[in-house]
Amino acid sequence: PPLHKQRHQFVVDFVKRNKPKKVVDLGCGECTLLKMLKFHHEIELLVGVDVNGAKVKKRMHGLAPISTDYLEPSYDQLCVELYQGSVTQKDTRFKGFDLVTSIELIEHLTPADVELFSEVVFGYMTPKMVIISTPNSEFNIFMPGVSCYRHSDHKFEWTRAEFRSWAMKVCLDYGYEVEFTGVGKAPQGQQEAVGFCTQIGVFYQLGGRDCCKTLLVNDAEDLFPYTLLYKVNY
Ligand code: SAM
Repeated sequence: PPLHKQRHQFVVDFVKRNKPKKVVDLGCGECTLLKMLKFHHEIELLVGVDVNGAKVKKRMHGLAPISTDYLEPSYDQLCVELYQGSVTQKDTRFKGFDLVTSIELIEHLTPADVELFSEVVFGYMTPKMVIISTPNSEFNIFMPGVSCYRHSDHKFEWTRAEFRSWAMKVCLDYGYEVEFTGVGKAPQGQQEAVGFCTQIGVFYQLGGRDCCKTLLVNDAEDLFPYTLLYKVNY
């Protein structure tokens, strides 16, 4: 299957194993991943946010219940919410999630915005689990026609070492541990040397202690900068 499908399937398989109840997809784009996730009955709250509201609106109606959902209700309860907003801003409604996904998003942010993203996601939203995917630049030698970046809007593409060092710092700062994996395998015999086409970090919040940086980030004030575009209850 194409790589974008493999990335989304990775999340779906993770959801099947870990059964999060509240899931938010950051940079949800045309809601492709959310549409796959709505079939997973453990999920009670499914939220998407993207800075590009027009992109979200284009296909969001695919998240509406179809008539069979009412005739044979297979959902215990499901609420879907879509927002326009930037992952560099804190919004109180995004706290308390079990799983946050960020698929091919961070490479579109400037380094300063990546810092804000880390603080917002790991320091403010403080979800139990986080899945982050981003291109592995070491793999680009296998991509014909890619001289610099895979996409003109990418602000950077990281090697495995660069992704690892960002991820380790996040873990230290905000009290998480991380496992590295990926999708899209290199040709036979070269997997070790270059790694996966898409690199993925799966982060787990360390239990039982609030990290000092998390406490600093968490001011008591409620914040609502995101705009609600769509909401449906099954
Ligand atoms: N996650 C989707 C997927 O896997 O197909 C879309 C990936 S697309 C390459 C990157 C998305 O991130 C775009 O929809 C873009 O509008 C969004 N994006 C870029 N900067 C953002 C920001 N600061 N806050 C929220 N979304 C952002």
